Amino acid sequence: MIHEHSRRQFLRTSSVASVGAIGALSGAAAGARAETRPIAWVAPKSPVSISSGNGLRAVERAVLRIGEGLDPVLGVVEGVGIVEADPDDMTVGYGGLPNERGVVQLDSSVMHGPTHKAGSVACIENIMHPAAVALKVLQTTDHVMIVGHGAYEFARAHGFPHEDLLTDKARRAWLRWKQTSSDRDDWLDPGQMDWNEEGTSVGLAGEVEPVPFTYGTIHCGAVDTSGNLSACTTTSGLSYKIPGRVGDSPIIGAGMYVDNQIGSAGATGRGEAVIQSCGSFAIVQAMEAGMDPTQACLHVLRKIVSNSKRQKRLMRDAERPDFNVVMYALRKDGVHGSAAMFPGARYAVADGVGARLEPCAALFE
Ligand code: ASP
Repeated sequence: MIHEHSRRQFLRTSSVASVGAIGALSGAAAGARAETRPIAWVAPKSPVSISSGNGLRAVERAVLRIGEGLDPVLGVVEGVGIVEADPDDMTVGYGGLPNERGVVQLDSSVMHGPTHKAGSVACIENIMHPAAVALKVLQTTDHVMIVGHGAYEFARAHGFPHEDLLTDKARRAWLRWKQTSSDRDDWLDPGQMDWNEEGTSVGLAGEVEPVPFTYGTIHCGAVDTSGNLSACTTTSGLSYKIPGRVGDSPIIGAGMYVDNQIGSAGATGRGEAVIQSCGSFAIVQAMEAGMDPTQACLHVLRKIVSNSKRQKRLMRDAERPDFNVVMYALRKDGVHGSAAMFPGARYAVADGVGARLEPCAALFE
């Protein structure tokens, strides 16, 4: 077990105490829980922020700004904004990998614990900071989700600049995917061409491996010293997706969720699997029922695997899925955890001790 957090760290007043009770989070068990008093956690002594492994600068910024008195929701949006603007991160914002037509379409959601308000945008184009637009939805409208051209127009109305988000690096990756995606179309793959990208004749180059679809996202959650939580998730989503495809990131309860009494959660990886298991909501429910953040993440990953077994094409073998999902959880008292399907993933943490990467627990060896 990578993260072992003592339950003595927080004050329990609930009668739903045992981890054993958690296997059943639906039906009768959920009804029983509703009748019990909530667990009360003590706020951390310094702000704490966690994110996916690509968010070290984001958590550092979020904790710094929240420590200066900024609302956690503004802190996480400012933090992920650094990654959204980074052309080298091909999973988020500027430089993100495009859809199958070569157009960058971004998804993001934001949630503010104290007001339990959420805002989100999906399939937004030509706007570099979708998390900040989602925050505007939260702050300035009675809606939760705005998509497509409506989201673009909403962002423009709020002064967000129109920008070309397709970097040369992302365009080349997309072109290579297009050229290798089928041998029965008119796009010659590099193995069939006798010209290189510079236009020089090179003769036949041989077989070329197709480019796989790739996932990637940033999730960031934070809690301040009053125990107020917020979170956000922002992404360019599944690479080379069907135009208009919406992943889990902008869906409240799937790619991100906050309950100010309990904690926040988020997800990266195969969004379809996370949506179909209401991943982030399920994590917060599991923490409410008494699991620590790491256990809650593992619990939801198990659920995702069990649901995926019904679709054989998603499974590597009888037990292991053929995709990855990483879940992140931050409890109201600042205790945090993360788990991935397979070993090797890390998540970013910033707190009173500084910013660092920590290993995620793994469901499978
Ligand atoms: N979850 C995102 C999506 O499915 C992608 C990712 O996190 O890798 O759009």
